[in-house]
Formats: sequence, structure tokens, C-alpha cells
Amino acid sequence: MIGIFDKEELKYLLQLRGAEQQSLLERARITRDKTVGNSCYLRGLIELSNYCCKDCLYCGIRKGNKNITRYDLSDQEVFSAVQYAFDNGYGSVVIQSGENTSASFIRRITSLIDHIRKNYGNNLQITLSLGEQSEDTYQRWFDAGASRYLLRIESSVPSLYKQIHPQDRLHQYSCRISALQNLKRIGYQVGTGVMIGLPFQTTEILAEDLLFMQRLDIDMCGMGPYLEHRETPLYEYRSLIPSLSERFSLSLNMIALLRLMMPSINIAATTALQAIDKEGREKGLKAGANVIMPNITPVHSRESYQLYENKPLSEAGNSNLGLYQRIEQAGCRIAFNEAGTSAHFLNKKSHNS
Ligand code: SAM
Ligand code: SF4
Repeated sequence: MIGIFDKEELKYLLQLRGAEQQSLLERARITRDKTVGNSCYLRGLIELSNYCCKDCLYCGIRKGNKNITRYDLSDQEVFSAVQYAFDNGYGSVVIQSGENTSASFIRRITSLIDHIRKNYGNNLQITLSLGEQSEDTYQRWFDAGASRYLLRIESSVPSLYKQIHPQDRLHQYSCRISALQNLKRIGYQVGTGVMIGLPFQTTEILAEDLLFMQRLDIDMCGMGPYLEHRETPLYEYRSLIPSLSERFSLSLNMIALLRLMMPSINIAATTALQAIDKEGREKGLKAGANVIMPNITPVHSRESYQLYENKPLSEAGNSNLGLYQRIEQAGCRIAFNEAGTSAHFLNKKSHNS
């Protein structure tokens, strides 16, 4: 069952439920264990700022939402979070933020990367998730020492992309594609992903998304259920979206199918899974994912980074132990102090050299 599926097969497999679904998820998990092993990598997620210059129609921190308190973490808060990740044996940190293309923001990110590189060397890998930036900016951050970049395509089908974004020059499908290509050209490990269960989305579109990720030859993926937020324009279409349990099932099937299609990439079990089911991320691991991104943002800022309603707030501190136990119960070994570089990326590099 590994490998090559056409769109019709994917549509069929995405709809599997019950015992057939369980056997799909199990096959994906076995494939992961055989190709990249059962290690689960930890990436400490730092939500740097909820200021955003964009207005994506689905997102709770969009510029147009006047009902949230905006924040920027201080450098000291970022450094403490990074130290926490290091002390706890996380192999990497992810710096994520609302989109900001100002010169001061670009400089600030460069200096944060510098700081992490100088203090932790290669013991802490740096992933960025800072939206669309110019090629020069991506290059600058790469040169400073960031090695991975997450930029979701959100939907690979241009007509759906258009329906979930404002129609202006800031929100162009073609720009998102160029950004992904630039990241690849520069040499980042590139991650993308989609939201699952969006209004107007069909299983055919989800099948297209999987084929898109395969064509783009990504190294990492972070995808999860779409969760509505009442302060966003897309909320109006909530009657068109599948039930929470259906979005959850579809998300697990997407993870499993992507693992079968691209066995050696890194796939995250995302927080949005946990928002639907307390053990959602561990179920993602059982479906073939191999990365978890514990939130290490200072607690007082977390509630202002509400991309969707009921986003889980707790994580670090004393709940770590419970998380570790659940990861192990899901059949994974926690890869403390390991970089967890995408095996797919390493394979490509060794073929090209
Ligand atoms: N601003 C950067 C960007 O858009 O790439 C990074 C931060 S953004 C908040 C990270 C991801 O959150 C987006 O790629 C999007 O898929 C996800 N997201 C936003 N709103 C969401 C929602 N209502 N449900 C699920 N995921 C959501
Ligand atoms: Fe901003 Fe990212 Fe949210 Fe879009 S998804 S509004 S770019 S934070």
C-alpha cells in the first residue's frame, strides 16, 4: 500500500471509517516505524507575537480582529523559553508569529537567531514560521542559522485558497507558491500543510492537497483540523463544515496517507488535534506522525494567540510528565536532545552530493 496513489484512490481512502480506517492508520504507523523509526521529536513552540499585517478569513489573530489584546514577547521572554527548551532536551525551537515584513521585525528575528546560535550552537535547531517574506529576508535568516521553515499552503487548490483569503495583493496564491519555492532554493527544510474541514472543501480537494505536497517534495508537514473562530468572516459558513469528529477523522486519515506517500518526511501531530480530543496529538502519532510541538510561550501571552476557539493553553511545566507518558503509550520513544532533521531532506542532500 506504500507510495503511489491517484486522486480517486485517495478520495476513497480519505473516507474510510471504523475497522478499515484503523487498519489504514496502523499501516501508516508501521511504515513510519520501518522507515524513520518510532522516535518522536519535540519542538518547543514560541508564539512571538500576535500582531499581523494580514487578514486571512479563518484566523483569530487576523489584523481586522479588534477584540484581542495584541502582544510582542520581549527578547528576555524568548530567551527564557529557548533556555526551557534546551533544559528539557527539546532538539529544536519553532518561532512563530503573525506576519510582519517591517525592517525592524526582520532585524529582530535575525538577532534572535544570532543569539540562539551563539549560545546553543547546533544543540538547538531553529524553525521559523513567520509567513511570507521576500527571498532576501529568507536568505538572511538562513545565513544567520535558521534551518527549517513552516509555511502552510492552507489549501493547494487556487479556487478554495481564494475563498478563504481576502482578494488583494497581500493574499495571493501565486505569492505563497513563490515563497515556498524560494525557501526550497535557499536550502531550508521546508514544511507546509493545510487546514482540514474548511467550508467549501471536498475530499477531492484534500486528495489534491496530498498530491500537491508530494509534487512539491516537502520535507516536513504540519496539518490539522480547521477550527472556527467567531471573530472571523469564515465563521458565517460554519454550517458548511463537517462535525468535529469528522474533521478529526479526516485529519488522521490525511496524516496516515501522507506517511504512506512520503515515508521519510517529518509529520507533526498538531495542537488543533488536541483541541478536539485531549489525546488528539497522541492519536496523530499512532497514525504515523513523528513530531510534537509543545507550547512554551509564556503562559500570560498564550490566551492572546487564539487562532481558533478553545485552543489548548496548558503545556509546559508540570504537564510535561503527562505528555511524555502519553507519547510513550502511543508507542513512541521520545528523542531528547536530538535534532530530528527530516530524513527525506538528508536523503535528497546525499543524492545531490
Ligand atoms: N502567520 C504565519 C502564517 O500564516 O504562516 C504563522 C502563524 S499562523 C497563525 C499558523 C497557522 O495557523 C496557519 O498556517 C493556519 O493554518 C493556522 N490557523 C489559523 N487559523 C486557524 C483556524 N481557525 N483553525 C486551524 N488552524 C488555523
Ligand atoms: Fe496572520 Fe498567519 Fe493568521 Fe493569516 S494565518 S492572519 S498570516 S497569523
